[in-house]
Amino acid sequence: MCGYITAMQDDRKKPDDRNKMNELDRLRHSCAHVMATAILRLWPDAQFAAGPPVENGFYYDVELQHRITPEDFPAIEAEMKKEIKANHPFEKVVVTREQAIKDSESGRLGGLSERPGNPSKFKLGNLQDIPDSEAISYYKTGDFIDLCAGPHVMRTGNIGAYKLTSVASAYYKADENNPQLQRIYGTAFKNKTELEAYFKMLEEAKRRDHRKIGQEMGLYTIDPDFTGPGLPLWLPKGAAIAEELEKLAKETEFLAGYVRVKTPHIAKEKMYLTSGHLPLLYKDSMFPPMELIEEEDRPDKRFLESRVQLALQKKQELAGTGDVEKIAHWDKQQAEAAEAIDKLTTRYYLKAMNCPHHHRIFAAEPRSYRDLPLRLAEYGTCYRYEQSGELFGLMRVRSLNMNDAHIYCTREQFAQEFNAVNEMYLKYFKIFGFGKYVMRFSTHGKEGLGRKYVNEPELWIQTENMVRDVLNNSGINYVEVSNEAAFYGPKIDVQVWSVIGREFTLATNQVDFAQPRRMGLVYRDKDNTDKTPLCIHRAPLGTHERFIGFLIEHYAGNFPLWLAPEQVRVLTIGEEAPLVSYAKAIVQELRAQMVRAEGDYSNDKINGKIQQAEQAKVHTMLVVGPRDMAANAVSVRVHGKGSLGAKPKAEVVANLLDNIRARR
Ligand SMILES: [Zn+2]
Ligand SMILES: [Zn+2]
Repeated sequence: MCGYITAMQDDRKKPDDRNKMNELDRLRHSCAHVMATAILRLWPDAQFAAGPPVENGFYYDVELQHRITPEDFPAIEAEMKKEIKANHPFEKVVVTREQAIKDSESGRLGGLSERPGNPSKFKLGNLQDIPDSEAISYYKTGDFIDLCAGPHVMRTGNIGAYKLTSVASAYYKADENNPQLQRIYGTAFKNKTELEAYFKMLEEAKRRDHRKIGQEMGLYTIDPDFTGPGLPLWLPKGAAIAEELEKLAKETEFLAGYVRVKTPHIAKEKMYLTSGHLPLLYKDSMFPPMELIEEEDRPDKRFLESRVQLALQKKQELAGTGDVEKIAHWDKQQAEAAEAIDKLTTRYYLKAMNCPHHHRIFAAEPRSYRDLPLRLAEYGTCYRYEQSGELFGLMRVRSLNMNDAHIYCTREQFAQEFNAVNEMYLKYFKIFGFGKYVMRFSTHGKEGLGRKYVNEPELWIQTENMVRDVLNNSGINYVEVSNEAAFYGPKIDVQVWSVIGREFTLATNQVDFAQPRRMGLVYRDKDNTDKTPLCIHRAPLGTHERFIGFLIEHYAGNFPLWLAPEQVRVLTIGEEAPLVSYAKAIVQELRAQMVRAEGDYSNDKINGKIQQAEQAKVHTMLVVGPRDMAANAVSVRVHGKGSLGAKPKAEVVANLLDNIRARR
């Protein structure tokens, strides 16, 4: 089957999910059929496995003696052109399992004709994954027949523009015990204009690569040998950006009635066993635990260890005596001592999320309905274990500074609180100039209750309705997707597009009706009964790591004044003492107002100094020469914009402060 595979490889798409494939996904998946046809025209022995659409394109996994390289792409694309020109309809045929097995054995599936002695072995394997409750279908385009559940476009001629992009290798069904296949990637669009725009965007994204710009600007470094992979070190210029973002968050949250807390980076295993993140749910995302025996328990431990040692010794002496009873006695002694040692040992985990810590702060004092909503905020550092192969610059890391907060509220307060969170997002979008966004509202799927989702059918429906109402009433741009919620409740993924049109998942809001109960959180309501609050998890600025990585691309490193690591540089024309004093006084005046201003008073040629400042992406350059000094003026130059001419110094300073204050 050329089916649609989700990120979780084992989770085969249900018919319902297939119906949700959008137009572009269908087009791209259809193009995978066409590519397979083209490959078969060139290499008729090719055996195909799966060919789903993926983000930005599609692939098809193929087994073939010949190793396909990008040099083969023009020939494959030329064959694809013929198939598209022929404008074959995608004809669906429903067959019995017996028929499908027969056609796999004859090599017909994923082929242009029967291929005796070359059965469609991967299609046969895919067939086994189709449950009896689902129909088995083929899709036929010209000579090509594929085992596939669809959906596709109507005809091959609907594929407007396409291009093969790369080759990788992948194991069949993502299992390394299976054969390794060649994965041929391509992309397709409705028309040539869109295709060209996409490649232009990729080119631009490469130019704006956060790893490249981050290094050039000296924003962060990763030191795998000493600090460890995936653990970015923020250099002073990167830290300046992070500090500005924190300042923005703190001000915004303060005005929205949040209170700030601070929590440790570690917690006992009990915390996560209670919250439900352990033993299973989050285990693979957490660093392994640290084991600790408290100082005062260490003599006990030594004593217990001596008991184990004694038992081992006794058992050795008894070996060969056949005294089963005595051996059993020492076995028991050993086991008891070992268990007692285990009880003395406490396991601590690095926190992978801040919620349980905040929940304990909620629980630290008796709470009444008058205390709600309680909004606890913290830029909390979390640690998540990502496989080394997954690590990528600032985008996939193992330490995360999170713009976190948890809002504890009553059911009645929910709509207003949730709405306020959305408003906060919109405010941020405006500040950063994100023109395009969508909120992706993920709800539960009934089948997953008790497995993928906490088993509270009523609460799921209630909270989902509350969220939907807020979204509908606020006129926020959102889409709803079922069966993708988080374990504890419905969630909203906020997606934004950078200025060059690249999509980015900024943050996730989650409504949680399960964790507060698990952690035993209650408030005393008006009617004098204890009730469990709802909890909203939200992090509009995501983590410093991902967000700054994204901002680097968004701004191409040309940060607006308020965020620029070096906001102002004062450059002297020459190094005469009075001029340098004048320049230094300007730097001092700006720094006294918390502006990140530096001076370049060297004797270098002014053009060279300007070029250096431009290269360092300094936002505003103030050039001062004798004539400026005489007029108590400065010549203003803005990075990327050029010279704005000489202006009175006081006006320039006031202007800079205004813009920084307004976060421009
Ligand atoms: Zn298909
Ligand atoms: Zn949380």
